[in-house]
Amino acid sequence: MKKVAFYTLGCKVNQYETDSLAGLFEQKGYEVVDFNKKADVYVINTCSVTNEGAKKSRKAIRRAVRKNPEAIVAVVGCYAQTEAERIKKIPGVNVIIGTTNRKNIVDLVEKAGDAEEPLTVVRDIMKVDEYEKISPIGRTEKTRAFLKIQEGCSEFCAYCIIPYARGPVRSRDLKDIVLETQRLVREGFVEIVLTGINLVMYGRDIGNTSLVDVLERVHDVKGIERIRLSSIEPMGITEDLITALTSLPKICPHFHIPLQSGSDVILNKMNRRYTTREYEEIIQAIREKLPEASITTDIIVGFPGETQEEFQKTYCFAKKIKFSRIHVFKYSRRKGTSASRMKPQVSSEEKRRRSAALIQLSGELEKDYIDRFIGKVMKVIVEKRVKDMEGFFEGLTDNYIRVIFPLKQEKQGDVLKLKLTKRENSCVFGEPVKT
Ligand code: SF4
Repeated sequence: MKKVAFYTLGCKVNQYETDSLAGLFEQKGYEVVDFNKKADVYVINTCSVTNEGAKKSRKAIRRAVRKNPEAIVAVVGCYAQTEAERIKKIPGVNVIIGTTNRKNIVDLVEKAGDAEEPLTVVRDIMKVDEYEKISPIGRTEKTRAFLKIQEGCSEFCAYCIIPYARGPVRSRDLKDIVLETQRLVREGFVEIVLTGINLVMYGRDIGNTSLVDVLERVHDVKGIERIRLSSIEPMGITEDLITALTSLPKICPHFHIPLQSGSDVILNKMNRRYTTREYEEIIQAIREKLPEASITTDIIVGFPGETQEEFQKTYCFAKKIKFSRIHVFKYSRRKGTSASRMKPQVSSEEKRRRSAALIQLSGELEKDYIDRFIGKVMKVIVEKRVKDMEGFFEGLTDNYIRVIFPLKQEKQGDVLKLKLTKRENSCVFGEPVKT
């Protein structure tokens, strides 16, 4: 039996797509093995969102070539889409596929031989208008299933390479989303995470359909206990969406809403089409209905031209909003984006300082948020055993608090009622409650 190994960089969408690719190879009789093992085929699913992602992608390609110089090495995904010419120069690469045509990967791999030039299938992504369903298989975690519903983004935020790597918005057929949800329920999943490149744009390409329709239809599927959304961009959050998010009971009260900056001047330079005031109004509307909802965010520090004063505005705004967690990114210049030509660039030292300040704030806000739930009874889905803690398991509450608790028997996927008893730093402990 031929062996195939995968290496995935970047976001949850990439992870989902790797699983789908693995499904295609399995259907053709391949065995999926660990990337550290010797394989006949190596697939590197790349990322280009930061320079670091691109560097790691090149490193993973070289690692695969070293592992088995006789193997077929296929490079797919965002970095392959945007930098195919550069990848062609890496010795040992046999196949390059961008962010389309991935459903043909097995054929392409089997066609690739010892030709000097890698077999390259990279389409002009701006002309692609169909949603590519890679395979019927696509999930990543044991208790939560990821379900991709949308591809592409047409926002062109000044710092972001994604629209060039993934192309315009393409939405998955609503009926197909419902069918996949039903299949996941049959496989035993009770929680699904709706994922995509820019979820709130769902339906813009097909008209008369929106993310609200997806939420309502998935919510109706029997057997689903929890629905999460991976991330929702503020510029696409409508009143209807807020109503759906706060009134459909299976939707988890945890919303990841990227802020990126708390300065209106920087938001404008970033080409983010909202102001801090509009952002705050969205949060207020959610909290009016769901006061205990967890709101997490992404913030970029050191965007070109960000002054100390503008950073300070971001810091104060984050504190005012009381995020329950902040993912902090140091601005990284991406060739081909409009921000890469903006001046002045902020020094690495200053970016490090601003990043450290926000990370510290995030830690403090997270503890304050968690402490509101100590002593309360919450539902947790059992995920896995805790390493090095005999008899203890961990799982997530609906508002994304990770809890450690004692359990006699493994009950992965079960929904338990736990009393949250204490927090030690960012670790939360709970006790099962008799019902
Ligand atoms: S919304 Fe902005 S940051 Fe998000 S993928 Fe689109 S362009 Fe990139």
